[in-house]
Amino acid sequence: MSVTRSGAPPVEPYDVAIVGAGVVGCAIARRLAHHPGLRVALVEAQDDVGQGTSKANTAILHTGFDAVPGSLEARLVREGSRELAAYAAESGIPVERVGALLVAWDEEQLAALPRLAEKARRNEYHDTRVLGAADLYAREPRLGPGALGALHVPGESIICSWTTTLAYATQAVRAGVDLYLEAPITHAGHADGVHRLDTPRGPLHARRLVNAAGLHADTLDRSLGHDDFTVTPRRGQLVVHDTFARALVRHILLPVPTALGKGVLVAPTVYGNVLLGPTAEDLDDKGDTGSTAEGLRRLREQGRRILPALLEEEVTAVYAGLRAATGHDDYRIAAHPGQGYVTVGGIRSTGLTASLAIAAHVTGLLADTGLDLGARRPLEPVRMPNLGEAFPRPHQRPDLVAADPEYGTLVCHCERVSRGEIRDALAGPVPPRSLDGLRRRTRARAGRCQGFYCGAAVRALFEEAQG
Ligand SMILES: Cc1cc2nc3c(=O)[nH]c(=O)nc-3n(C[C@H](O)[C@H](O)[C@H](O)COP(=O)(O)OP(=O)(O)OC[C@H]3O[C@@H](n4cnc5c(N)ncnc54)[C@H](O)[C@@H]3O)c2cc1C
Repeated sequence: MSVTRSGAPPVEPYDVAIVGAGVVGCAIARRLAHHPGLRVALVEAQDDVGQGTSKANTAILHTGFDAVPGSLEARLVREGSRELAAYAAESGIPVERVGALLVAWDEEQLAALPRLAEKARRNEYHDTRVLGAADLYAREPRLGPGALGALHVPGESIICSWTTTLAYATQAVRAGVDLYLEAPITHAGHADGVHRLDTPRGPLHARRLVNAAGLHADTLDRSLGHDDFTVTPRRGQLVVHDTFARALVRHILLPVPTALGKGVLVAPTVYGNVLLGPTAEDLDDKGDTGSTAEGLRRLREQGRRILPALLEEEVTAVYAGLRAATGHDDYRIAAHPGQGYVTVGGIRSTGLTASLAIAAHVTGLLADTGLDLGARRPLEPVRMPNLGEAFPRPHQRPDLVAADPEYGTLVCHCERVSRGEIRDALAGPVPPRSLDGLRRRTRARAGRCQGFYCGAAVRALFEEAQG
């Protein structure tokens, strides 16, 4: 078991190398870690897990009610959703089953609701209900005027995407997976049954390769001689409103979907904020996660209609994530048995939800390539620190504070993060490599002052831990 960011990999080939430590790659690593006979490497270009699309999404645990019926994505979202809900309950990942309302703003959208309910049934989701305007406003009194009705999807939930990726990585590393950080694959080749992955840290060899490189999965796929899909980054900009806005909204408020995607939503977060977004902009640059004045203006315009009072609330932050869109209506997951290679491409806007089911599916495909998985054992359970507002935070737990006063000593006052939580995160099995990594593990500096008041104290603790 190791987490390294320098030094050459061993010469002996791994049984499996997974490229990309996003939520998908980490879920696959965790799944393979159930098999103690396998030597597994998880190889990541950046300095932390979950630094790509997995850190910047809307963090909804979907039911899959609106997936394309019969698609692989529909099945994996449906299965993944159930699995992740159960895993979250076991491992302390905050989830709130707030439910969603697809709001119809005109007659055409109203007429579409029964069709969406029927689509949900074809996706094996049977709990939707069409609501009239009176029911809708009783549920969401602050909704803007003019809504005609809604489809209620009670199973839609909000989740902490940061904790999810970290929980998978933690379990994988504890069970023996070697995590290589700051190891971008610059070239991949396959000869004599072994993959050679060149990184600035030296070559890494593996008999099987899983490509979970997200936005860059097409590049790696091409370097192995395939031309199955091209990733076009589809940017989603989002606005995070202060926790004072939380009382304005009870459900995830969705528009009736169009061909371009799920559209702009208003949704609470497990940290007590309210999100407005995302946009859907096809770009050329896979690194362009910037927010734009035009994008934010359009979001505010749409937000004004959905929840007018939200516009009066303070904005805490803006961010953008890039979906790995491919022009195909489904994931691009494919096994190439002759090469001992599995591509996990086109995991666009549901990868967080589907991650555990994708991992099971990919493990099956690896076995189909002839990989002998060997015996399977249960993993040591993981208990993640709670970042969610619906559950007691450490400073609210007298038992914890009495046993260790550091949990009662707040460092970040906006988000009420204690010294004890920061200390634990810095000493964790997959420790943060930056202040942003520490924020994703604790919420420190994520609040309304964005680190203006606590920044120096948080940095001092971070630097002390780096030695
Ligand atoms: C705006 C937005 C909203 C979304 N909302 C939701 C939602 O509500 N619910 C949901 O379920 N999903 C949602 N998604 C989708 C979800 O976030 C993604 O499907 C998921 O994060 C994809 O994970 P991944 O591991 O495939 O990709 P990533 O997280 O991008 O991970 C890929 C990793 O591969 C690494 N990598 C790339 N190339 C190389 C290389 N050559 N060498 C080494 N490493 C490499 C990258 O650094 C990166 O860390 C949303 C996405 C966006 C953008």
